[in-house]
Formats: sequence, C-alpha cells, structure tokens
Amino acid sequence: TQMLNIIGGGMAGSEAAWQAANAGLQVTIHEMRPKVETFAHRTGNLGEMVCSNSFRSDDHEQNAVGLLHWEMMQAGGLIMQTAHKHRLPAGGALAVDRDPFAQSVTKALQDHPNIRISYDEITTLPDDGHWIIATGPLTSGSLAEAIQAETGAEALAFFDAIAPIVYAESIDMGKAWMQSRYDKGETEAERTAYLNCPMTKAEYEAFIDALLAAEKTTFKEGETAGYFDGCLPIEVMAERGRETLRFGPMKPVGLTNAHDPDNKPYAVVQLRRDNALGTLFNIVGFQTKMKYGAQKSVFKMIPGLEAAEFARLGGIHRNTFINSPTLLDDQMRLRAKPHLRFAGQITGVEGYVESAAMGLLAGRLAVAELSGQTLPPVPGTTAMGALVTHITGGAEAKTFQPMNVNFGLFPPVDGIKGGRRNRKDRYKAYTDRAKADWQAWLGQTAQNAA
Ligand code: FAD
Repeated sequence: TQMLNIIGGGMAGSEAAWQAANAGLQVTIHEMRPKVETFAHRTGNLGEMVCSNSFRSDDHEQNAVGLLHWEMMQAGGLIMQTAHKHRLPAGGALAVDRDPFAQSVTKALQDHPNIRISYDEITTLPDDGHWIIATGPLTSGSLAEAIQAETGAEALAFFDAIAPIVYAESIDMGKAWMQSRYDKGETEAERTAYLNCPMTKAEYEAFIDALLAAEKTTFKEGETAGYFDGCLPIEVMAERGRETLRFGPMKPVGLTNAHDPDNKPYAVVQLRRDNALGTLFNIVGFQTKMKYGAQKSVFKMIPGLEAAEFARLGGIHRNTFINSPTLLDDQMRLRAKPHLRFAGQITGVEGYVESAAMGLLAGRLAVAELSGQTLPPVPGTTAMGALVTHITGGAEAKTFQPMNVNFGLFPPVDGIKGGRRNRKDRYKAYTDRAKADWQAWLGQTAQNAA
C-alpha cells in the first residue's frame, strides 16, 4: 500500500487524511500540538476551531459557502459530517459545539485503521515520499523558513492585507469610470483593470472623519510580530494626517473623470480587477482593521459604491500563506517539488470551510496520483472548483491575497441577467449547476477508482 504523510491536523489536514485513508492509503498525520503551541489554539485536538464556532451559512441554494458545505457532504467529508452532528441552533448558520466537535474529529481519525497520528513538529521540507503540507495560518517558524528557502522570500507572506472586494455588477458606472493611471498598460486586459471613483473636497473630508471615527478591531496578543511592513491599514494612514491618503492610495493624479472631464477630482478611490472573469474588484490599498459593519457604511460613502455589495470585507491578520498562483500546479503540487502538495489556509484560501475543502481536494488528488489515475479537472462551476481554480491560476499573482468562496469566482450563468432584482434566481442557478457538475465529477472519480 501507498503511504501519504500529512503535516498539520487542522481543518485541512484532518479532512485530507480522512479522504485518503477511506480510499485505502496509509496515512500519517504529523501534528505539533500539544507539544508546540500557537497563540490561537488551546488544545491538542485535531480540527480545533481557533476563533468563531461557526462554519457560516448552511444555505446551499443561495450562498456559496453553504454550497461548499453541500459539496463536502456529498464527498463524505469528515469536517462537515461532524459539524452537523454537533450543530447548535443558530438560524441559517452552521454553528457547532466546538470541543465535542474537535474531540469527535480527533477520535474518528485515531480510530481509523489506515491512519497513524504522530505528535511531532516537522521543521524541514521532506526530500522524498508523498506529502501534504496543511500547517495553516500559524505554520511553525522553522517550517515557514524552510518553505521560504524553497519558494523565495516574496512568495510566502506572514500577514494578509485584505482590501475589500466588491462585485463588479454592484458598482455604479454612472459615477465610476474605467481607466488605468496615466493610461498605462500594454494589453487590453491591463488598460481595463481599473475603475475609479471621484471625490470632491467635501466628500473626502467626510470620508476621513468617518474613517477616524469607525470602530476598529485589535490584534490578539502574540499576533503582531513583523507587522507594519507595507500593509498599513487605511485608518492608520488617515491618523497620520488628513492628507496622507490623498498622497497615497487616493491620489487623484494621472486620471480624468470620464463623466466630468473638466473637473479634476479632489481624491480618487481606485478599484482593481481581482479575477480573470472580471466579476470582482478590490479597493486598492484599502486594507483595514475596521469592524465589518463600519466598513460597509464607510465604504458606501464612496461615490459609485453607494449600493456596493461586498464579496469580502477587508482585514489584516497573522496569516502564513504562499503565492499559490505562481507556485502550485492545478493538482495543488509545488511545481518545483511535485511530491509536496499544499492544502488549507496556507494555499491562500480563507476560512474553516474553505480550508477543509482544499484538504478534501488535496486528499483526493493524492489518492488519484498514488494509484496512477488521472482525475478529470474539478469543474470551475462548482464551489470546490471555483476556489481551486482561483488560487492555482485565476487570481492575480502579483497582488494575491487570501480568498473566501463567493459567487464572483464562478463563471456567469448563461441566460440570466445580472442586476439585483434577479439575484435570488441567479444564485439558485449557480447552485443548481454546481450540484449537477459536482455529482458528475464525483461519479467519474468513483468510476476511475473502480
Ligand atoms: P489549522 O486549522 O490551523 O491547522 C494547521 C495545523 O498544523 C495546526 O493544528 C498546527 O498546530 C499544525 N502545525 C503547524 N505547523 C506545524 C509543523 N511545522 N509541524 C506539525 N504541525 C504543524 N476562519 C473562520 O472560518 N472563522 C474564524 O473565526 C477564524 N478565526 C481565525 C482566527 C485566527 C487567530 C486565525 C489565525 C485564523 C482564523 N480563521 C478563521 C482562519 C482559518 O480558517 C482557520 O485558521 C483554519 O483553522 C485553517 O485551517 P488549516 O487546516 O489550514 O489550519
């Protein structure tokens, strides 16, 4: 029998182990806890939830993360099955009783005849064998150094600096216009990469006031080492002086307002296309520690974003992640060392569910590879496929930041018009299509294995 080693028994590693062991591989999970601790974990359990006890929306008809739940359930996912077993009442959200949940995940893996758990820290990149690296946002220092030595310093980040991401269709193009600064760009794609929102002096001053007044979150103890290099939150920039943003990310130079060419805007907020599909735009330089509610109200003050819908809000966290678009192939393997596969939050997805989902996929891809099969590519129309396609190719490598699953990552559904009125129908069409395609993919996978 074939051997698979997994580093990290968190959301991703636990799920990868479950999938691979159920398909007959002999799996060893290497988990450093409880010997080596992180600032966020409290126990030695596998699958520990470090913060919120929620797997977010369980609505698989109208919500992309709910759809991911559904897809994982169809694939016999351990994290989702266990979450449903320990569910707490929480409306449409899948909240769980965290300690029994993690104990249950741990026991399922301990009791599995094909799984061995080794409580040790892995500090170097293994030279041979088959490995999945699922060490998460708090990957231990020595392993992170080893990864960085392999990938180059630029390709491994220790903090994310997430600017809010807006659905393109919710931007008011009666106010915003498309233009790159100084009309730079060789290709059509580069010239159409930016949208601009103009501000008058009064609008800018009101915006700065709101930024300064907004409620912020704070870093946890132990979280901040190494922060503040090149990812200052906008509110911190604003605190340094009322003009700082106007000379920074909001500078109005090299741009002409297409709706009012004779009036120079006092400040400009730029949005940059965030995915190849052109369905998502991020607000350039707007990483922030403002609370989510405050972000929505402050960003809706920007002319053109009054009705903005956010695919994700901004944040800055301690978060170890690699530049997957440049480093990983479509099988989630390190291009330069294909015996090393990555999974979970370290690949640049964000969230318990997304991390577990990437573990599920990595486990299955490892099974296929070790048994000499070629799996058909995961359809990009499924939540699983949309996410893996984004991190291994769809996302802009230069500005790559961790991503939540959302409908903006899906190819548009034919025949259904955009716009807010039809949103419910559109989301239903996305999820119907995803479910059919995921079932078909799982079916093909099973056939291959048989
Ligand atoms: P983890 O679940 O962290 O698992 C990685 C495992 O690898 C850990 O058990 C760790 O001990 C182990 N490990 C690390 N290095 C080594 C090594 N060298 N050798 C052996 N083992 C090692 N997501 C949400 O959806 N909701 C939240 O509320 C939320 N809050 C978060 C709060 C914090 C402080 C952080 C850091 C992240 C949070 N996340 C949250 C993001 C993320 O989804 C979770 O961290 C999630 O657990 C990631 O899954 P993972 O499997 O990739 O990593």
